[in-house]
Amino acid sequence: MAERRMMREEEFLIQEDHFRRNAFLIISEMVKMSPKHPSVLVDEILHSIFFLGHIKTPQYSPKDIVSDDNMLNLLKGRYPQPFKLFSSELPKRSPISCVLDMIVHLMGQENEDTIIEELQKLIRQLKEDEAKDLVSSTICVSQKNKDPNSDRYYGVSMSTSGRDPGRIMIAASCLSAWDSYVAGAVMTYYPKKTQKPYFDGTIKLPEQVRCQAFSLSDLREMPPCRSCGNLFGLTTSENREWPYGHCAEAESVSNLLKYEKEVREQAQPKSKTATDENRKKAQESVLKELTNLLKMQKFTWDKHFYTPQV
Ligand SMILES: [Zn+2]
Repeated sequence: MAERRMMREEEFLIQEDHFRRNAFLIISEMVKMSPKHPSVLVDEILHSIFFLGHIKTPQYSPKDIVSDDNMLNLLKGRYPQPFKLFSSELPKRSPISCVLDMIVHLMGQENEDTIIEELQKLIRQLKEDEAKDLVSSTICVSQKNKDPNSDRYYGVSMSTSGRDPGRIMIAASCLSAWDSYVAGAVMTYYPKKTQKPYFDGTIKLPEQVRCQAFSLSDLREMPPCRSCGNLFGLTTSENREWPYGHCAEAESVSNLLKYEKEVREQAQPKSKTATDENRKKAQESVLKELTNLLKMQKFTWDKHFYTPQV
């Protein structure tokens, strides 16, 4: 019995070390990649990682994560806000979304292969020893049509581990980051896998849209899961149903709809229940669920989403 418990405690320690190791690695890579400092994306990722460390059990403080004193002081000097607000404000996106933005910005949206390869390099480092903390497993690319020259919009799956951090970040992205159609589709099901009786905000992307996901471990094409089929009208024979909003498709489609107004218009929700009033009601229910989840994590939320600024 005692032996079994010790093994469990050891396993726990290893898991926690993965968090610290991966967090530090991601921060170091982002600092290296950024062409200038301060950078909005570095600011955002610091806050997002510190927040996730803060709601972990046991907690990880920024000082635990950035254990190198020199680097800690440098970061604090250049990025004071994340150090102040990680324990009161919520991030809008999970960390790897910021890494993805940085890579797309550096490589240019048209260079799909290079973008995926660059992100894969980092994910491989993070996934050594089977670590799952702060890792996105898939990337998705969307385009308004099959023309190879049309703009590409990217997204990654949620880089959280565990049920509650995932649910927290999906709710936060719904309420603050995603295009309102994507948020509405996800809120239709959130937090469980059953549809709300009073609101159906699901959408159907036009046939000509490309929305294609790849595994970041081996670049295999990943067919949309059942949830993404239900959310965005993507055709799939897949039966696996990931938590709604978890997959890379959500962020990628959200980026597509933010910029391609015509696609957005064609995709609008068709259900009679998709009214402004019902959408508001759904938002309120998601906010309530989010508030409860945060309370369970003993997080005192000041009701603000963190806005990165430098
Ligand atoms: Zn999916």
